[in-house]
Amino acid sequence: MSPRHILILGGTTEARELAALLAARPDLRVTTSLAGRVSRPGTVEGDVRIGGFGGAEGLADWLRAEHVDHLVDATHPFAESITANAVRAARSAAVQALVLRRPGWQPGPGDRWHDVASLDEAAALLPSLGRRVFLTTGRLGLAVFAHLSDLHFVARSVEPPEPPMPPHIEVLLARGPFTPSDESALLRDHRIDVLVTKDSGGTATSAKLTAARGLALPVVVVRRPPLPEGVDAVPDVAGVLERLALTP
Ligand code: NAP
Repeated sequence: MSPRHILILGGTTEARELAALLAARPDLRVTTSLAGRVSRPGTVEGDVRIGGFGGAEGLADWLRAEHVDHLVDATHPFAESITANAVRAARSAAVQALVLRRPGWQPGPGDRWHDVASLDEAAALLPSLGRRVFLTTGRLGLAVFAHLSDLHFVARSVEPPEPPMPPHIEVLLARGPFTPSDESALLRDHRIDVLVTKDSGGTATSAKLTAARGLALPVVVVRRPPLPEGVDAVPDVAGVLERLALTP
């Protein structure tokens, strides 16, 4: 009997952890799909394919052609298009689909969080909260802040951003995980008075929230887009193993 084929839509720490666990099993074939956004994606166990599928139909074709048995969407909570495509493609190709979605961040005592629904809302709110902004929402969203010429931005991203972007900006190229003490030092060194983040969840990039709490800084939190109706979602890798009946 040929091994069950599992396609993981990746680009996250959890996707990499899942691939490592599943690729070690001889009864499975594991493929991780990456969008190809970062130039050095790091090591991923099992097979890897890179680049878009050409929408939901292209993904459905791929699922059929490669005889995929299970599709695990372990993409980032803000990767909205691929998640919508995955749901449609899995239905069309009659493949079992599961979404691995890590829980969002919640404020604790002393936090001064401002929830917004989009980067545009974050940009509209910023001038009322501070002058020196630490922006951690990713290089692709910088255009939304480009008109804020009175504010000074420190933007952190994995890959160098491209214009349009705000006129007063310092770019820090770095990839998590980060520690609370390093994040505190960064906020102090750059005299940051407001932080903007997506609600990515997880621990790799949450140290900035601890640091902001310690310095009593306001944080603008861009909340996640909702999951499509009716998807089967689990919060972690263990949930995927359980749902696929792969627990030891
Ligand atoms: P997106 O807007 O949902 O996707 C745009 C298009 O990119 C998709 O329609 C698809 O192209 C292609 N794509 C996305 N993820 C793919 C994957 N894993 N494998 C193959 N094709 C993929 O996604 P995004 O926000 O640009 O994110 C791209 C990737 O970066 C995701 O895999 C995500 O896990 C990772 N990431 C995103 C963020 C974020 O904040 N958005 C943060 C960290 C990591 P086709 O329609 O041609 O198939």
